[in-house]
Amino acid sequence: MIPFNRPHLTGREFAYMAEAHAHGMLAGDGPFTQRCHERLQALLAVPKALLTHSCTAALELAALLADLQPGDEVLMPSYTFASTANAFVLRGAVPVFIDIRPDTLNLDETLIEGALTRRTRAIVPVHYAGVACEMDTIMSIAQENRLMVIEDAAQGMMARYKGRCLGSIGHLGCLSFHETKNIICGEGGALLINQPGLIERAEIVREKGTNRSQFFRGEVDKYTWCEMGSSFLPGELNAAFLLAQLEDAESITQRRLDVWDFYHHALAPAEAAGLLRRPVVPEHCRHNAHMYYVLARSPTHRTALIAAMRERGVGPVFHYVPLHSSPAGRRYGRCSGPMTHTDALSERLLRLPLWIGVDEQRVVDSLLASVDAVAQGA
Ligand SMILES: *Cc1c(COP(=O)(O)O)cnc(C)c1O
Repeated sequence: MIPFNRPHLTGREFAYMAEAHAHGMLAGDGPFTQRCHERLQALLAVPKALLTHSCTAALELAALLADLQPGDEVLMPSYTFASTANAFVLRGAVPVFIDIRPDTLNLDETLIEGALTRRTRAIVPVHYAGVACEMDTIMSIAQENRLMVIEDAAQGMMARYKGRCLGSIGHLGCLSFHETKNIICGEGGALLINQPGLIERAEIVREKGTNRSQFFRGEVDKYTWCEMGSSFLPGELNAAFLLAQLEDAESITQRRLDVWDFYHHALAPAEAAGLLRRPVVPEHCRHNAHMYYVLARSPTHRTALIAAMRERGVGPVFHYVPLHSSPAGRRYGRCSGPMTHTDALSERLLRLPLWIGVDEQRVVDSLLASVDAVAQGA
């Protein structure tokens, strides 16, 4: 069985972890965390990166920095992972869901202005499959209406929009290093702080609400509780593992792109024959091969394809149940307008295994044979 995901190793992870232990420091914010921060800042051209223990944590930290009041509204797609909405619900804010574009499955930027109310405080674009949302439009609406933009770039590491790295464009950006993402350390993430005025508070909120970071840099002579915060930092073992991956971020991305390109090329005839739809990447977006998905012709077509592929030894998966139709989404959020594309496309999407070393020919063969078998059976 070809598994859906297999975590990649560069080969240096365990040596770095041993080194972290030899430093005699396994808690957070040691030398490996510092090196990860510097790497991320250089790779993504951001003023400040702070490791967190997940993208969920980075989103929660971002929501704390956004100073939301109960009842404030945050615009986001419904077609996303629960953490995107949860972070704001934890602050008493209301997620307001917007439909997605049928081409990229990203939040439809033309629907944002119609969703604004007196309570709107922030927009959370989610860069689905590492393909950028229309950030120029989003940033200009945000500027006109004095809204904060928090990019959910969990899937966007190393991808670009008009030359700029995803996560570096909004006021804040959130990355994930979960084992199913491109650059990994098991569970991990980072908050990218693109507005220098937010850096000092971000460090404090991330360190249990204390000024420990400033104290260690010798900037203050007392280390004390300054404001509301929590513990968002990972330990040094995770940072050590992550550093090995960050050092190879470019080659990891390229090797994933090779698999993505293979799938895209091999599936062109099936798309031309109207059997499935392939992903769309706009000209000005450079994606990172986080995901390869196809859209089946209907929800029942998808179910049949997944079963037929599993019979042929390949494990495709699907996601997400749109948040507006989930129990918690209904309780805590609301929709702005109909969720036409969200509802239709989420039920047709299936993701192919995409990892370094996957037998891409076998995956394609199994999908194409399944498409044929399903067509004959129907
Ligand atoms: C993976 C993912 C997250 C959560 O990341 P974790 O690091 O697992 O917390 C959030 N949003 C999106 C869009 C994701 O794909």
